[in-house]
Amino acid sequence: MSVHQLTIGDIECAVLQEGAAFMDRDSVIARYPNVDPADVAAALGDNEPSGSLNLLTINSGGKRILADVGFGEYGPAGMGGTLRGLASLGLSPADIDIVFITHFHGDHIAGFFTPDGAPVYPNATYVTMQAEWDEWMSRWAASSAEGDQQNLARFKALQDRFKFVSAGDEIAPGVTVVDLVGHTLGHAGLLVESGSERLLHVVDLLHQHFQFANIDWHFSFDTNSELAVQTRRRVLQHCVDEDLLTLFYHLDFPGLGKVTLEDGTYVWNPTS
Ligand SMILES: [Zn+2]
Repeated sequence: MSVHQLTIGDIECAVLQEGAAFMDRDSVIARYPNVDPADVAAALGDNEPSGSLNLLTINSGGKRILADVGFGEYGPAGMGGTLRGLASLGLSPADIDIVFITHFHGDHIAGFFTPDGAPVYPNATYVTMQAEWDEWMSRWAASSAEGDQQNLARFKALQDRFKFVSAGDEIAPGVTVVDLVGHTLGHAGLLVESGSERLLHVVDLLHQHFQFANIDWHFSFDTNSELAVQTRRRVLQHCVDEDLLTLFYHLDFPGLGKVTLEDGTYVWNPTS
């Protein structure tokens, strides 16, 4: 379990590591369908693939927000660090006021329910983009897989606990929804802003360090690959232009740093 605490102006934040070593080398190399695997292997070089799960929690205006829920207590071995991280901050799941779902991929939502189907964060308002909800309800409805049917039934039963938001909506003081469409159809991040300080959580804008230098590489889990490329280009440039502190969900813990542009190539500068 790792916890990295930081403040953005008056807003307390922490990055909680749910787990690491999420993807092995061969499966990472196989996930870029418009690229020769040898080129991906060369770009990865001798580096280990990134595979962290970095969850952001924010305390603003008396609201405790958790962005995504990871795999949780009932997930694969080595996961569940979010709940232990919250406990180390003196928090239980019942203390979370807002669960913000950036998108409905399993590594972000599998820890939403107990095995009995009860929400793990019982008192929270659940917040996501309407387009994200719509994509997954229709994908799961079209699937006969047991897990998809279970997700469909469980989330639909909770629909009146959900609040559907749009880009630019403020979910707590200084915490604003950011459009990251492409990875999924309602993929969203959060901008935390207080005083002169800002943090932009860009979630799954990219998954590996080598993508900074190869932003047009498609990623097999992107719902709309071309849109994902456009969004990567737009948001990375925004991070450079605004000199933003940036958080990535899957880069090496804590996943915080700054993006720079050097000789036409984006470069990741992790916070030391
Ligand atoms: Zn992810």
